[in-house]
This record gives sequence, structure tokens and C-alpha cells, in this order.
Amino acid sequence: MPERMRTWEMPNEAGERPRFSLPFLVRAFALVLIGLSALSLFFVGSIASHKADELAFDKQLVLVDNAIRDRQSLMARDQLGLARWDRSVERIVLDFRQSYIEDEFVESLWHDFGHERSFLVGPGGRLLMTAWRDDVDFAERVLSKDEGLMQLVDLAIARHNTNRIAITGGFSQRPVQAARIHEIAAYGFVEIDGTPMIASAMAIVPDDGAVALPAGAPVVLVSAHPVDAVFINDLNAQLELPGIAFRINEDGLLQIFDVGNRMLGSFIWTVEKPGADIWSVVVPAVVLLCGLLLTASFVLGRYISRLSIRLEESERRNRELAHRDTLSGLANRLSFDRALNEAADRLAHAPFAVIAGDLDRFKAVNDQHGHAAGDVVIRTVAERLRSAVGAYGLVGRVGGDEFVILVDAFRDRPRLALLAQTILTSVSRPIMLPSGTLVDVGISLGIAVAPENGISAHAIMATADRSLYASKQGGRGRVFFAEDLDTANLHETDTSSADAANAA
Ligand code: GH3
Ligand code: MG
Repeated sequence: MPERMRTWEMPNEAGERPRFSLPFLVRAFALVLIGLSALSLFFVGSIASHKADELAFDKQLVLVDNAIRDRQSLMARDQLGLARWDRSVERIVLDFRQSYIEDEFVESLWHDFGHERSFLVGPGGRLLMTAWRDDVDFAERVLSKDEGLMQLVDLAIARHNTNRIAITGGFSQRPVQAARIHEIAAYGFVEIDGTPMIASAMAIVPDDGAVALPAGAPVVLVSAHPVDAVFINDLNAQLELPGIAFRINEDGLLQIFDVGNRMLGSFIWTVEKPGADIWSVVVPAVVLLCGLLLTASFVLGRYISRLSIRLEESERRNRELAHRDTLSGLANRLSFDRALNEAADRLAHAPFAVIAGDLDRFKAVNDQHGHAAGDVVIRTVAERLRSAVGAYGLVGRVGGDEFVILVDAFRDRPRLALLAQTILTSVSRPIMLPSGTLVDVGISLGIAVAPENGISAHAIMATADRSLYASKQGGRGRVFFAEDLDTANLHETDTSSADAANAA
């Protein structure tokens, strides 16, 4: 008969196993932690890198802006020597002398200071002189109000008026130190002849009061320089920004407006990105940290894994010990009772039989050969019972020399009788003690079948015990069926031989 599944063979008191093992959970938890720390480091790194780029860009913007202001105030300071000078008042404002303007004034503006464009603007926006380098043109025209040049001139006049003072014979201008040149000069960007230019304008005023300005608007000197490669090279001498350029009418990194707030264009350059350097620190740090955490979690996981294997092993051993008889290795009473109860519960679908057995004349072995010899006999009998029953059922030891067998493979009398006979024959074979002595014990058996001889575990067991008692009463070394109990002549019937013959 093939081995069949028996739910009661290895009772599991531990119940449902957890879905995930502890080492698995520890490793999973560690991996999640590592992932989170790596992510947060990358997150912090990315914020820091972004911030560093932003700060660097802001710093560059300020630097470019300051450099531009420096160029503008330098241009104003260059003008100051010629514009605040009695000689210029005399020869331009009081008397317009072309030779002075051409040979000294513009000559100096171009050759000494490199002001590429120069203009003289009189009251009412009258353009008195236009120069390109030292090439002077005295053609007059009136500037329109919305021309950038005129707006710069108006600003310069406003500054002059703020600082205008009355002196003997007319007006002059309060002297200011070079560092406060912005109080008397108007500078910025302006579009002249379609070209964006850096420009500075200031009124022509006396320097020591020997001459005085007449009432009314002053004559204004305007110096300008195109925003060209020469200007950008000068600007970039200290900045050293890679790829700096000016784009006319285009939006870039630093927009440039004229005095009337019209956008003239913008500066562009290759923006410094120090944030990228942060990654060369963050990435190795993340890798190192993850490596350390992985190693730590691996070591911890292995330790917990070993611990949990040892725990499981000892739990399994304890469970087995709790259900096995330590001397014989058979199911103990607790385990057998549980199997019997389960079988009784399933009785409607799976009828079964119980065989109760008790060794005959066992006490004599103990008495004559000692307790240890008795133990050897019990172990030997247990082994013989186990091999006789095999897959037909479960063998248990429930008392000193008492055994029980739950047979669930069949319950018909002929096969039960055959099994009983096999057991009687097997157990009654001489047993060799360690001392070499042979001893003989027999076994008496009582058989009850369910549901005919009882439906509860207790009732079936009691009936099997009564049958066993009948068997002992009948002379030992035999089997007694519960169905024969009522009619039996306990002293004469030797059912074992009769049933064995039937079965055969
Ligand atoms: P009967 O034929 O009427 O069954 O008599 P018996 O000699 O087999 O004696 P009985 O069944 O009344 O008693 C069983 C004896 O088994 C009593 C006890 O000393 C002995 N015994 C009980 N447990 C153990 C054990 O674990 N080891 C050993 N060696 N002897 C045991
Ligand atoms: Mg006995």
C-alpha cells in the first residue's frame, strides 16, 4: 500500500508560519533604509549644487554690473578735466570757438581718453558739434525729445541744476569730489546712430570762478563709446568671464537699458557652475555610505539568519519531543489522543480501527534482567510494531508496556486480523539483550472499529481496552475483537488463531 498523507502524523503546534522570515525582513528593512539615505543624500546634494550655481551666478551678475559702472564713472572722470574748466566755458559757452573745440577739446577727448564719439549740446537741444574720434562736424540740428542722446543730456542738465550756484556775474556749479561724480554727471547706455553705446554727459562749468555761466540751460558735453569688442575686452580685463559678448536687442544674462528704459540688448557669457563640483564629493560619499550600510546589514542579516535557524531547529526538536515518547520514539499519549480525536471527528468520511496492546510477562524481564533490559525490550517491540503497521496507521506508547495503534487504512475484520497476527508473530520473536541473553515476551491485542464499537475517541478506546482485557483473560498472546465481547467465552475463545485463519 502506498504511503498516504496523514495530517496527525506530525502535529504542528506552531500554527501558521510567518509569511516572511526574520532575516529577510531585516535585509529588506536595511535595503529600504540604504535606499532612503542614498536618496536623501542625493536630494541634499542636488539642492546644494543648485544653490551653489545660483550664488555663483548672482556673484557674476554683481561683478559685471560693477565693472560696467566703473567704466561709466571712469568715462565721466575723464570728461571732468575738460568740462569743468574756465577755458572751456570761455571758448565753448561764452564764445563758440571751433578751433579750440577741434584742436584742443576733441583732440584731448580722443587722444588722451579714447572717447570715440563726442557731442556738444546747447540750450534747447541744439546739437552744436558732433565728433567721431578727432573728426569734428559743426553741422547743427535740434535733437528730438525722445532721442536717447537728448534724454541723457536732459538728465545731465537736471544734475547741473541741482548743483548750480550763483556767483558774481552769473552761475557756476558746486564742486564735487571725483568719488561723487554721479552727482553732476549723467551716465548710462544710449543708442546713437543705431549702435548701443556707453555714454556720459555733464555740463561745461567754470572751475575757479574767474568766469561765470550765463542764465539758462548749460552746454552739455556727451562722450560715448560703442559697446564693441574693444569695450568688452576692457570690461573683461579683470572679470575674465569666458565667452562674454553683447547681443543687440536680444535677451541674455544681463539686460542693458538706456536712460529712457528701452532695452538695448544684453550681455551673455558662459555661466560658472560650481554646483557640479559638489557631485564629486556627494557621489563617493553616497557610494561609501551605502557600502558601509550594506556590509553592516549583511553581517547583521547573517547573524540573525543563523540565530533564527538555530531557534527554528530547537523549536522543531521541542515540538517533536512533546509529541514523541522518549524511550520508544513512538507517538506519546498526548499525540496519540490528538490523532484519535481527529480521526473521530472525521469518522463520517473515514471509519477506522483501534488496536490496544499490552506486553505479556514483561515485568519478569525487569525483575530478572533489570530495568535497562526492560527498556531494550520496549524499544525493540516499538520498532517491530512500527514495521508491522507501516503505512496502515499510527503506533503510540501510552503506558509502561501499553501500546495503541490507530489503523485508518482499512477496518474490515479479515485485514485487521491479518495485521494482528503479524504483530503477534513479530513481537513474540525472541529479543536479544545487550548481554547476549535472549528473552521472550508476547503481546495481547484488543480491536475496536469505529463507528460500530463507539463513535467518540473515548468510547472507542474504552472498547479496545475491554477487548484487550478480554484477550488477557483469554490467556494472552492473542487478539480479541470488540464485536465478540457480548457473546464471548473469555476463557476458551482463541480468536487470534480463528481470525488469522479466516484472513488467510
Ligand atoms: P501482564 O502480562 O499481565 O501484562 O503482566 P506484566 O508482567 O506485563 O506486568 P504489567 O503489564 O502489569 O506491568 C508492566 C510493568 O512494566 C510494570 C513496570 O514496572 C514496568 N514498566 C513500566 N514502565 C517501564 C519502563 O519505562 N521501563 C521498564 N523497563 N519497565 C517499565
Ligand atoms: Mg504487561
